[in-house]
Amino acid sequence: MTSSDPTVQPVPASVVEQVDAADVTLSNPKRAVISLGSNLGNRLETLQGAVDALEDTPGLRVKAVSPVYETEPWGVAPGSQPSYFNAVVLVKTTLPPDSLLERGHAIEEAFERVRDERWGPRTIDVDILAYQDVVSDDPRLTLPHPRAHERAFVLVPWHDVDPSAEVPGHGPVAELLASVGSQGVQARADLELHLPE
Ligand code: ATP
Ligand code: CA
Ligand code: CA
Repeated sequence: MTSSDPTVQPVPASVVEQVDAADVTLSNPKRAVISLGSNLGNRLETLQGAVDALEDTPGLRVKAVSPVYETEPWGVAPGSQPSYFNAVVLVKTTLPPDSLLERGHAIEEAFERVRDERWGPRTIDVDILAYQDVVSDDPRLTLPHPRAHERAFVLVPWHDVDPSAEVPGHGPVAELLASVGSQGVQARADLELHLPE
């Protein structure tokens, strides 16, 4: 179909602008930081798919996406799993924390993540690193993420997208990164995730 098709009514420009404006404006949004990791299948495509799926979430806008890092699997024997691609995404959202977690799980399911062994390989892992300054020890949703402060693969990209960030209860990301170091975390400057249009 083309715009000259008589059955297609052109949308007046002013209406398009109004719709767009309504879409981008969230009322009283909260800040959240999300970690994405993939070590099965097409890792880059999956990370981008997860970014796009986040942006497609009603009440959520992706504000920033970190560079891509290739990282050694964490918590398992060296060489026992393929390496990961990791990134961190800053979002603004009107979703409460539990709905954001649910959305993360739905994205994992959409990419057919299978959970068997702990820290097993996965197409995609969506973790909530922080939600505003909320601190919670609920095992279903612990905030900030209970291991974020000790993981270089989280701290390096988090620092990239928000150099002045703090991990609630643990201190500045920059200081945590300085003490943890960035061993096993390689920048993949040849790869890039893009913000959804
Ligand atoms: P890790 O939590 O060490 O990064 P993992 O990501 O492999 O390991 P999963 O199997 O993905 O662990 O998650 C196990 C459970 O952790 C989830 O079902 C979820 O309810 C819970 N959970 C608690 N806090 C969080 C959080 N901040 N973000 C995501 N999941 C969380
Ligand atoms: Ca995880
Ligand atoms: Ca997880």
